[in-house]
Amino acid sequence: MGEVKLEHVTKRYADVTAVDDMNLDIEDGEFVTLVGPSGCGKSTTLETIAGLTIPSEGTITIAGDDVTTKPPKDRDIAMVFQNIALFPHMDVHDNMSFGLRLRDFDSEEIDRRVERAAEILQIEELVDRMPDELSGGQRQRVAIGRAIVREPAVFLMDEPLANLDAKLRVHMRTELQRLHKELDTTIIYVTHDQAEAMTMSDRIAVMNEGHLQQIAPPLVCYDEPANLFVAGFIGSPGMNFVEGTVEAEEIRTEGFDVAFDPAQVPELVEGDDVTIGVRPEDVYPAGEADELANPTRRIRARTDVLEPMGDQIFVYLVLRGEDAAGADTGTSGAASAQGADELLMSVEPDSDLTDDEDIEVVLDRRKIHVFDTGTGNAVCHDILRSEAMGGGHPGAREET
Ligand code: ADP
Repeated sequence: MGEVKLEHVTKRYADVTAVDDMNLDIEDGEFVTLVGPSGCGKSTTLETIAGLTIPSEGTITIAGDDVTTKPPKDRDIAMVFQNIALFPHMDVHDNMSFGLRLRDFDSEEIDRRVERAAEILQIEELVDRMPDELSGGQRQRVAIGRAIVREPAVFLMDEPLANLDAKLRVHMRTELQRLHKELDTTIIYVTHDQAEAMTMSDRIAVMNEGHLQQIAPPLVCYDEPANLFVAGFIGSPGMNFVEGTVEAEEIRTEGFDVAFDPAQVPELVEGDDVTIGVRPEDVYPAGEADELANPTRRIRARTDVLEPMGDQIFVYLVLRGEDAAGADTGTSGAASAQGADELLMSVEPDSDLTDDEDIEVVLDRRKIHVFDTGTGNAVCHDILRSEAMGGGHPGAREET
């Protein structure tokens, strides 16, 4: 079956380590997406699984078989690439069956497989067409069909939707999920698009600079990112980061403080430099945060730019600091260029906020992430712990 295991896989080129000590354990039937910025080693990892590249170190097994140095044809895999190279002089049927004909499959078996693939991909009526009579999305489906007819144990897909327009890409995401459900076959998928990774995968493997950062279900990467890189990469727009220092019972930043109970979160050590992470949806205008059980103290801010998205509005905030006269101190302009005293907040589309308005916001303390500024690693994702169950110290909950 289609289990894939990478153990300590490293791939070096002359002066680049494209993939560094990669360990992956992919179960049969799983949809795993390798995601990360351009150049992080996704394609190289996939190529080592495909047999297009031999790793410098490490082993790769597919279904228990050590394939590390085997050529692609001796691996039970089929690949789909970004560039769809269909033979222009062959119709869809012949394009899809080309590989099978090379392998001397009999024509009955070929027809059975092409028919099944065409049915799954809903392109039955296209099998007699030539490639230049197909749209981009249809061509991509034929390319996927060509992989399906191989009936491999593992599908390897390298940015297969990258050349499609935005609307079709979103549509094809759903198609690929449906396809995965139908085929029940392992899919290892490469993309730089975190939204694509989040929506389709059982697990995502986030990579940066050749290193695996975290492998987990999409929502775990979103809610409990292992480090600052994952926290910033997953989610759009990204998480807000504010640097601060751990004090006895609060994390102090330039613009605001976040109280915590040291008994509940012993991993927050006084004097440590930490970075607070909070997602835009966990920042609230103070007046609208009544339903929030655990808000921070009010944070004084000025609205800078508003971006209405239709279903929500992104509000760029410049913090005004704790200074009582702050209303006319740190206003936008110069302060906004520094970054550290900015926050992005998302609000409901019917919000009546305007730009250049002095407001107060609060953060949902249950949704505050803390990272070690030095290593970037997550320290904790819940600074309240059991406090919300009835414990906690007086003053930890602020009135709004
Ligand atoms: P991604 O797919 O995440 O964009 P790649 O796996 O293609 O990244 O590349 C990872 C790194 O390895 C990059 O720095 C890239 O330039 C380098 N690299 C990839 N293939 C080769 C090659 N054949 N020769 C030299 N360097 C390569």
